[in-house]
Amino acid sequence: MTYGLSPDQLALRARARDLAQNLIKPNARRVDETEEYAWDNVETLQEAGFMGMTIPRAYGGLGLSYLDAVLVIEQMAACCGAAGRITVEANMGAISAIMAYGSEEQKRFAAEFPLSGDKPAICITEPDAGSAATEMTTEAHKQGDKYIINGAKHWITGGGVSRLHLIFARAFDERGEEQGIAGFIAVRDETPGLVIGRREPAMGLRGIPETEVRFEDMEVPQTMMLVPPSGLRRGFGDLIDAYNSQRVGAGTVALGLAQGAYDLAREFLLEREQFGRPIAEFQGLQWMLADMATSIEAARGLTYRAARSKGDRAGLFPDPVMAAQAKLFTSEMAVKVTNDALQMHGAMGYSRNCDAERYVRDARMFTIAGGTAQMLRTLIAGGELDMKTPQTRDGYTKLAERDPPGRTKPSVAA
Ligand SMILES: Cc1cc2nc3c(=O)[nH]c(=O)nc-3n(C[C@H](O)[C@H](O)[C@H](O)COP(=O)(O)OP(=O)(O)OC[C@H]3O[C@@H](n4cnc5c(N)ncnc54)[C@H](O)[C@@H]3O)c2cc1C
Repeated sequence: MTYGLSPDQLALRARARDLAQNLIKPNARRVDETEEYAWDNVETLQEAGFMGMTIPRAYGGLGLSYLDAVLVIEQMAACCGAAGRITVEANMGAISAIMAYGSEEQKRFAAEFPLSGDKPAICITEPDAGSAATEMTTEAHKQGDKYIINGAKHWITGGGVSRLHLIFARAFDERGEEQGIAGFIAVRDETPGLVIGRREPAMGLRGIPETEVRFEDMEVPQTMMLVPPSGLRRGFGDLIDAYNSQRVGAGTVALGLAQGAYDLAREFLLEREQFGRPIAEFQGLQWMLADMATSIEAARGLTYRAARSKGDRAGLFPDPVMAAQAKLFTSEMAVKVTNDALQMHGAMGYSRNCDAERYVRDARMFTIAGGTAQMLRTLIAGGELDMKTPQTRDGYTKLAERDPPGRTKPSVAA
């Protein structure tokens, strides 16, 4: 199945698959067991041009599309979830926002990081502001030509290994008046007051640290404040538009994990014998396999459609509803498919000597991180009903907040 991919995209997918199978897969168990960030994998990704591939050519990248990146991420995640996530964050999320909204200086500055092997960190979630992200309390106060930032984030992917950070904070002017939520660009080890805190002992995807990140009187020059073109009042909405790229990327990692687990289970079914025949001959397992294959294909269709779509006003990022549908469906599918793959292995699937259990643990995060399954359903319903999604204090979608007529309708590029 070629999904209308161009010859260049098919070649890119084949190259990514080759590299993932030969160079990334052999490290996957080590990465999980040691819980150490795989710098050797990063080097492999960088040499292949997969770190920063979506960065425009003018800034040193390959100028590839989100769909191109998705094709690569899927192959990496099928072999190693952590490598898939590194590829997401080196091409989407923080770097996407900066390349779309940044000044010339910011774009030139930021592009260098993924291109030289850094996986940027995006810092939104706080201990008391998860799904209700706009309730964040991290504050940036203007003082002359700089901002002084105080606050704390948690569950920041790459804390302690990422260098470039995009930090969401409430911005205040010199009179102490709130201006809106903006992004601030800072670099670990070069910005006093950027402190990496406690690491979470995460269930899966253990090759990437999830940590607290604190800002203790951290100074960021005004030139490193990322303000979307429509200004600070709409700043959060625009920054979250950029996040839709990362949401598609996260769904793609779940897709790749499901495919990897499926491949493992299929092979096992053909090899393992019980009652004098390969277990693949039992209809009970055949039907499970058929459901797994079908739901993976459905997820792939939604993911590629979302990656091709353009939803925000400027057409820079995937459509929010399509991105939410792709991640919602794919993440729940991956939880089920990886679990079924483990089941098909019998006791062996429950052993840490078998990759099936790693796929289960790795897949579990995607119904939570980057918008929970519940919040994505609310977002999708808001799109269906032409209502704003709940970033309000009470968390409900309100009829009174219907988007005005003329809301940008999503489009999917051919
Ligand atoms: C592995 C991992 C990596 C992450 N990486 C990052 C990162 O790099 N950067 C970052 O900023 N954040 C990151 N996060 C944080 C993630 O985005 C948040 O966990 C997520 O937004 C949910 O917030 P919460 O955990 O505070 O849950 P809560 O918001 O407290 O939700 C708790 C439960 O209530 C439900 N709920 C909440 N509000 C509603 C509502 N209105 N309607 C229905 N149900 C609701 C949720 O769905 C959930 O089931 C990561 C999380 C994980 C697990």
